[in-house]
Formats: sequence, structure tokens, C-alpha cells
Amino acid sequence: MTQTLPNIVFVMTDDHASHAMSAYGSRINTTPHLDRLADEGMRFDNCFCTNALCTPSRATILTGMHSHRTGVTTLATHFDSRLPTFAGMLQESGYQTALFGKWHLGHGGVHDPRGFDEWEVLPDQGDYHDPEMISPAGRHVREGYATDIITDLALDWLGRRDEERPFCLLVHHKAPHRPWEPDEKHAHMYDDVDIPEPDTLRDDYAGRSEAAAAAAMRVADDLNPRDLKEPVPDGLSADEELAWKYQRYIKDYLRCVASVDDNVGRLLDYLDDAGLTEDTLVVYTSDQGFFLGDHGWYDKRFMYEESLRMPLLIRYPRQIAAGSVNDDIVLNLDFAQTFCDLAGVPDLPTMQGRSMVPLLRGERPDDWRTSMYYRYWMHDDSIHHARAHYGVRTDRYKLICYYGEGKGAPGSSDRRFDPEWELFDLEHDPMELRSVYDEPDYAAVRKDLEVELDRLQREAGDLP
Ligand code: CA
Repeated sequence: MTQTLPNIVFVMTDDHASHAMSAYGSRINTTPHLDRLADEGMRFDNCFCTNALCTPSRATILTGMHSHRTGVTTLATHFDSRLPTFAGMLQESGYQTALFGKWHLGHGGVHDPRGFDEWEVLPDQGDYHDPEMISPAGRHVREGYATDIITDLALDWLGRRDEERPFCLLVHHKAPHRPWEPDEKHAHMYDDVDIPEPDTLRDDYAGRSEAAAAAAMRVADDLNPRDLKEPVPDGLSADEELAWKYQRYIKDYLRCVASVDDNVGRLLDYLDDAGLTEDTLVVYTSDQGFFLGDHGWYDKRFMYEESLRMPLLIRYPRQIAAGSVNDDIVLNLDFAQTFCDLAGVPDLPTMQGRSMVPLLRGERPDDWRTSMYYRYWMHDDSIHHARAHYGVRTDRYKLICYYGEGKGAPGSSDRRFDPEWELFDLEHDPMELRSVYDEPDYAAVRKDLEVELDRLQREAGDLP
């Protein structure tokens, strides 16, 4: 029996948290086209990133390696495209490959995308409106809205593809990254409604390390005029100002998400019309999660749940039961090996994740991981002041060490902080408001987690 190799459409957004998707039970918006992927495919409830920052997570996704192996540990470290990526490996095996949208891994020479028959990307972070774009032919401006343009490029390429060969298409949106600039079509969505506030919008950072209080990513204090786009009204109390800023922030964020959702719908419609739906694996994810006012924050970086968790929906009618849900721990580290596995391409011993293909079929290997290793390297940058940390998460607990210095972290400042630890019991404290690291009742749990963290660091080859 010959099994046709699947086509792969890999849609990735930037900073789209799963709690802004109705498929994940969002209280603040609806995403009908993304929900369709969940209804017709599998929703992963515990997909985590190993470093919650755009550039490092993207390098990990391409290569299946942790940040210390890709060398892309912070925003200041660029990717060496000579490293093997799933895209290049699929291309070598006969797949047609293309990348449109955000790259954010550096430009020029060895930093340009490799392994793609065709690519056109935004420079670094890129612009929402009339963005400049880079292709092998050079730089040029495209008129329109980035999310629409990136989808247009993908659809155009699909229309020109060789129908005799499978394809792997990366549609990597800039949205809904800061500064959250909506398009005309969605500019007035939510004008007449108040978006519900998250429970922890007024977090006072008690019960945790100093790192949480030190971070400068507060909705109340740290959004700039470009983020807010209009002056704060006069005469508001501090609490009223926070409420106003939250609405200002979250509405633009959700308007950008709505455009992503529409454009995912366009892609799905194309696959339907072209008769490709059955033979095409469609992935929707984001490079990490995001704080949507949770803990009083926007942004990501921390190992806390909202930032650690990536949305992940995968539809492939030939292998995935419609409407299935998986709660195993899967990682951004697993994408490369999963795509290789699906394409029948042997993975590489240097890859550090694992193929999710058995999980897609509803078969959980007995030795599937029950814990994950995280490390955020970009220590105390001059804007966000989030401290470097590493940690371990199991199904119930999370141990985090803010290790206090920028040891080995390019771009880190010279400032030093005393190491601090946090331990959360996610069953009793799902919002991570009270570290139990020093509580005697948790001494045994703490010891076990310290052992597990050490084991994971040795396994990853990351010994800070
Ligand atoms: Ca990101």
C-alpha cells in the first residue's frame, strides 16, 4: 500500500495566547476559523515553549534544538541558517517548500532563510501597514495589511505549485505582536463593548520572587504612546487608568487576532476548493503565549502559564480523529521531528525533541515525557527587565530558578541579582500567585523537582 505523503501548511502567529482563542475557551473573543481546525483535528492543551521569546522559539521550532544548541538564546542572537532545519530536510527529500511572513532570525548571508524554494519575509519585526519585505531579489514595499499580504503570497504560491509533488508551506504572521495595529476592517470591532478583565489584572506580586515585581511590562505603567495610540483621558484615578489601558490594549490585540482568524479561513477555503483538505496537515500555533493583562502584564518571557503555553491545533483527516484533545506535554522542540516523521525523512541525532505523530493517531507512547525544561536567557534587558531563569514543569508542579546573572547570555547587562526560587502547585494555585518553595509541606516535592531539573539539564546538555 502506498501512502501519499502529506502536504504541510504550518501557520504560526507571533504572541497569540491560547486564551484568546474560542477553541481554548476564551472569555474575550471568538475565532471561528481556528475553531474549525480544532473541531476537525486535534487540540493540544499542554504545548509549551522552551524559551518564551520570538527569535529563540523560532530557531528551536526549525531545528528541534534547545536555545543553547541553536545559539539563538535572545533577540540579539541571529540564526545560522546552515544548521539543519526541517524545511531544508523536506526540500532535499523532494518537497516543495516556501516561507512567507515573519522570520526574525537575522538577515543577510548565513542569516537569510535557507531550505525554501521561495521565501519573502518581513525585516526583523516588520510593519503592519504597507510593510517592507525581503526576498532573494532584495527589499521592496508591499501595499496593504501584513496579515492579508502574507496570506496572499501563500495562496499565490499554492496556485503555482507543482501538483505532482507534496509541499511544505510556512505562513508565519507578524500579528498579533506589539504594537497591535489593526486593519481597517477590524478597527472598530469591540468599540461598544467592555472586554472582561483577567482575574489577576491587579496582581500585587506578593508571594513570589522579586523578579515578578521587577519586570517592566505592566499594562498600568509600561505601555508607550505607540501602543496606546491615543492620549490617556484626563481625570482618571490610577485604577480607572489601568482599566482604560487594558481595554485599549486588549481590543487592538483582539482586532489583530480577528484578522488572523479571517485569513486562516481563506487558507482553509483554498484547501477545500483545491481538493487538498484530506491530504494536507494544517498546523496552527504561535511562537509562545502572552500575558493578556494576566499578572497585570502584556508581553511574555516568564515561565508562568500564560506565556509558557503555546496554542497548538493540528488537522490531518487521514490520521487525526476530528474533535480530539491531547493533554500530554509537547514542546516547540517537537515540531521539526514531527514534520520529518510525517514526510518520511529520518530525523537527526542532534534533534532534541520527539515526533508527535503517535499522539496524533491517539497512541501515547508509554515513555512519553512527563516533565519539560525551560530556560529564558535574555537577562534584565533594558526595556522589560525580566530576569533570566530556568525551571521544570510537570503535570502538577513548576519549579523556577531566577539564577541571578547573565552568565553566558549574550546581550545581558552586568547587573547581578541574588538567585531566587519559586515553586507552584498548579492544582491548588493555577494562577501562580503563591510560591510554596519554603513551605515545609512541600519539602519532598521540592526535592523531587530539583532532582528532575538536574536530570533535564543534563539530558539537554545545558549546564548553567
Ligand atoms: Ca513572539
